[in-house]
Amino acid sequence: MLSFPIYLDNNATTPMDPRVLEAMLPYFNSKFGNAASRNHSFGWTAEEAVDYAREQVAKLINASPKEIIFTSGATESDNLAIKGVFEMYARKGNHIITVNTEHKAVLDSCKHVEKMGGEVTYLSPNEDGLVNLADIEAAITPKTILISIMYGNNEIGVLQPIEEISAIARKHDILFHTDATQAVGKVPVDVMAQNIDLMSFTAHKMYGPKGVGALYVRRKNPRVKVTSQLDGGGHERGMRSGTLNVPGIVGLGKACEICQNEMADEAVRLSKMRDRLEKELLTIEEAYVNGNVEHRLPHVANISFKHVEGEGLMMGIKDLAVSSGSACTSASLEPSYVLKNLGLDDDLAHSSLRFGFGRFSTDEEVDYAIDHVKTAVHKLRDMSPLWEMYKEGIDLKSVVWQEH
Ligand SMILES: *Cc1c(COP(=O)(O)O)cnc(C)c1O
Repeated sequence: MLSFPIYLDNNATTPMDPRVLEAMLPYFNSKFGNAASRNHSFGWTAEEAVDYAREQVAKLINASPKEIIFTSGATESDNLAIKGVFEMYARKGNHIITVNTEHKAVLDSCKHVEKMGGEVTYLSPNEDGLVNLADIEAAITPKTILISIMYGNNEIGVLQPIEEISAIARKHDILFHTDATQAVGKVPVDVMAQNIDLMSFTAHKMYGPKGVGALYVRRKNPRVKVTSQLDGGGHERGMRSGTLNVPGIVGLGKACEICQNEMADEAVRLSKMRDRLEKELLTIEEAYVNGNVEHRLPHVANISFKHVEGEGLMMGIKDLAVSSGSACTSASLEPSYVLKNLGLDDDLAHSSLRFGFGRFSTDEEVDYAIDHVKTAVHKLRDMSPLWEMYKEGIDLKSVVWQEH
């Protein structure tokens, strides 16, 4: 039985796994203690739960539990990593390298750094979304202290060459931060093998609760430190003050444990769904996949339908909860900056849809989505004078439109 609308926006957030909710519940009532209370069993119980969660989280990414700093989510983790490194390493330099298709949490933290006197290089990726390694090398200066490049892109799913990037960072004695929010729990991530120095992720993109996340901060080879952005009681080894969100942290831990056990099978199942949807939707004329199709997350497809109006398309598929590169889904009037920075023109960016499959997606839902999108695109094109002109072989770029 299908229930509507069908949720295919798992890159925006995931529903909570019922097993996660169950693990969290006692920490809202009977086990309500403050993990920093050292004088009684309420505190000890909470602290034990936090310690256990720290181990579950660390294990998923092959870190030591001491290297996990709990935060309120990936936005805070990105802020702490970028601003925290900028302040901590001010004597070494003031230059940061990033990419213009990063999440706003990274880009806006970099803008803040620029206001504080820092210098930031925003690289453009290739048209498939992958960063060019030679561009990174070329951007490095004696003042470079940090390279921040995301693991998997939230809009197009492209996986960056993490090992190659971290090797460049190592060679030049520069720290490497990655926003791995979309990758942790979806694909194997190993901070040791991949030489990652700082890494952001969040519970609500991996079937855990909203409002809790983590920053991995390397403790050995090299020992990395970030300047706290929240001052107070000195929690989390002085890098992030504030009473710990015990139920949330328990949920993040449980979410990590489940992903560790089920990620491999889940990736196979979801990539089959993704491939089937993509294959079917690409039978539509003038449909294009955005982003590299080889190096990417298993559960994301981003497709543009040429000569289809973005807003109309979203209206036409009301039974599907998906994301669009079109302006109508966001507060700004600009279409997706990620797609534009790949070099897509406004029309193609506007007419894009992002499908994000998840743990609770079913084959029946994929079937429905395929039919629904096909019908909507064909219907819109049947009504569209632009499509008619295109079919008649008129080069639309050469048409001089009358002003009105
Ligand atoms: C969702 C997301 C964030 C923000 O995470 P929050 O926990 O919601 O603050 C940051 N980076 C990427 C890549 C994301 O997908």
